[in-house]
Amino acid sequence: IDLQGKHQASAIYEHSYRERKSLQLETEQWIRQAIARDWLVPYLQPLVDFDTCTIRGYEVLTRIEHPQRGLISPGQYIKIAEKTGLIVPLTEVLIEKAIKIAQSPELNQQHQDPFRLSINISAKQFHQRSLPSQLAKQLKSANIDPHRIKVELTESDVMENIDAAVGIIENFQSYGIKVALDDFGTGYSSLAYLRQLPLDIIKLDRSIVSGVTENERQSAIVEMILLLAKRINMQVIVEGIETSHEYHYLRKLGASWGQGYLFAKPLPQSEIITKIPAIVKQLKALNGMPL
Ligand code: C2E
Ligand code: MG
Ligand code: MG
Ligand code: MG
Repeated sequence: IDLQGKHQASAIYEHSYRERKSLQLETEQWIRQAIARDWLVPYLQPLVDFDTCTIRGYEVLTRIEHPQRGLISPGQYIKIAEKTGLIVPLTEVLIEKAIKIAQSPELNQQHQDPFRLSINISAKQFHQRSLPSQLAKQLKSANIDPHRIKVELTESDVMENIDAAVGIIENFQSYGIKVALDDFGTGYSSLAYLRQLPLDIIKLDRSIVSGVTENERQSAIVEMILLLAKRINMQVIVEGIETSHEYHYLRKLGASWGQGYLFAKPLPQSEIITKIPAIVKQLKALNGMPL
């Protein structure tokens, strides 16, 4: 038996465990500081309406802007925020920031119809019963129509907590807040569940969208989801459109709403505002419409 090798392996494991632990503690510290020192920055990614060639709204995607470390992405801290419960104050801060965005005169000036905003909600918050009423109350006191606001619940979260999810979905909707199922198609998807879930919107994940132009089956699945959703009155937003080839292909399959790097990456509000005319122009060009 290679005891020495075994010993070494466990030493390496120990080491990486300790490293992981300290990275976790460091990240936790960043989240606390981000909340306390206002380092949380809402980045906005446009939600595009293909038929009218307009931007209908924005998804709020949070980043931590650390003065020394730079930009920290949600992939690095959301899980830890959930585990530590810091997701609750983080979401509170985010909602306040989202309300300011919804009220922004500069951004409203760029839109004929009131633009919509969507906010991502974690599974850990499904049991936070006060969240929907709290959000509704804040919207009311800021004089924002709740129909402009949408919350996104991730598919895997919803499937793991079906009953809690149905409760919170109905609760949000009772205040006029729309609910989307995020990351649809990433694994747990069962079309049967859609019957149980009173959703307004489903968001097709990039992972099933990206192969669509090359893969016959993938394309058939996407087409079927689009058809089904139409039949049951659910709106579909296609996520992660990166190329004009994907865009044209998805349009042919029946998609009419989308997000993706093709139109814009998530950007801070001030940067989005300057990019809006170019995004609309590009959309019109894609559709062969006069500019
Ligand atoms: P999500 O809600 O599914 O957001 C879509 C992710 O895909 C975003 O990553 C976005 O930047 C990225 N994306 C958008 N278009 C494209 C594209 O064309 N190509 C590619 N490759 N990627 C694209 P991001 O911003 O890193 O966020 C990752 C996830 O973190 C989000 O996934 C969301 O679930 C979560 N998240 C972000 N902000 C928050 C938040 O404030 N609260 C909670 N609970 N979760 C958040
Ligand atoms: Mg989302
Ligand atoms: Mg998500
Ligand atoms: Mg998604």
